[in-house]
Amino acid sequence: MEHTASSIPSKMKAWVYSEHGKPVDVLKLDSNYDVPSLKEDQVLIKVVAAALNPVDFKRMLGMFIHSDSPLPSVPGYDVAGVVLKVGSQVRTLKEGDEVYGNINEKGLDRPKRSGTLPEYTVAEENLLALKPKNLGFIEAAAIPLAIGTAYEGLQKTALSAGKSILVLGGAGGVGTMVIQLAKHVFGASKVTATSSSAKLELLKSLGADLAIDYTKDNFEDLPEKFDVIYDAIGQSERAVKAIKEGGKVVTIEPVGELAEPAFRFILTSSGAMLETLNPFLENGKVKPVIDPRGTFAFSQTPQAFSYLETGRVTGKIVIHPI
Ligand code: NDP
Repeated sequence: MEHTASSIPSKMKAWVYSEHGKPVDVLKLDSNYDVPSLKEDQVLIKVVAAALNPVDFKRMLGMFIHSDSPLPSVPGYDVAGVVLKVGSQVRTLKEGDEVYGNINEKGLDRPKRSGTLPEYTVAEENLLALKPKNLGFIEAAAIPLAIGTAYEGLQKTALSAGKSILVLGGAGGVGTMVIQLAKHVFGASKVTATSSSAKLELLKSLGADLAIDYTKDNFEDLPEKFDVIYDAIGQSERAVKAIKEGGKVVTIEPVGELAEPAFRFILTSSGAMLETLNPFLENGKVKPVIDPRGTFAFSQTPQAFSYLETGRVTGKIVIHPI
């Protein structure tokens, strides 16, 4: 279907929650939701595909109530779609551009009330990049928040060529990106990653030199120690036992205890970062990973969240078509 500015309605379909709770209980489909108005530095996007992230259901559960936006709210950070209209201060993007990005600059600081799970969304131009030419909308939607978190975390650990890294949670949305970036962008000498038994081959196919089955082995009992540990699970207490002297542990689990010298951060979305990584996506060195049963129709969004909440998803879940 062609998407043009002249076809923009004033109302749209959107998944909305007006109270906190589990997605299956609180997410409601509203067919008469206002299409968001456009600010000067923003573009209006026809959402073609949107990926889910754990932060979406954690916000819905009310976990970040102190820094969250007021309800009602439409969830969703990751989008791939077509620019339909540009604000007066927008410099590079134009109508018809195929874009992707994470529409919330600060992950937990007043995210937009109208997210990426309606038919149309708005985002600041500087949070978006042109969609990699070789990827479809479903694949592109699966990338921004996860790759951004992976890249920012690896930068903060100062991972560089020749260093070793252990990735805890290698099969998740973020972990699958950390493995690929560590190996193919940052040039780590040895990438080790953890998952359950059935996902070990996937970790290797993404670039892990060694895949550890956490149901059988404890990584902190290995004789080998690591320069960097990227903890996507929330196991900093165990992780600090497995670093070399002077090594770095970054954890992205936003709540819970943090063992010294581990540190945590909350991601910042950036279109420029996506543009930096586009060549690695376009030459196929870094690939989006979508769960084998991870594409859900828009009408199945609550069911998609239920699957994500199991914590067993491989890579990403994407909602399409919207
Ligand atoms: P996912 O839901 O994609 O992670 C699911 C994966 O985790 C599964 O494949 C599962 O593999 C794996 N897993 C679960 N338990 C373990 C374990 N004990 N050891 C190894 N692997 C395990 O989550 P994301 O990757 O999207 O996010 C990870 C966490 O980071 C979440 O808590 C999220 O909220 C947070 N986050 C924080 C950000 C920040 O800015 N600070 C940004 C993005 C995410 P298996 O089935 O094999 O167990």
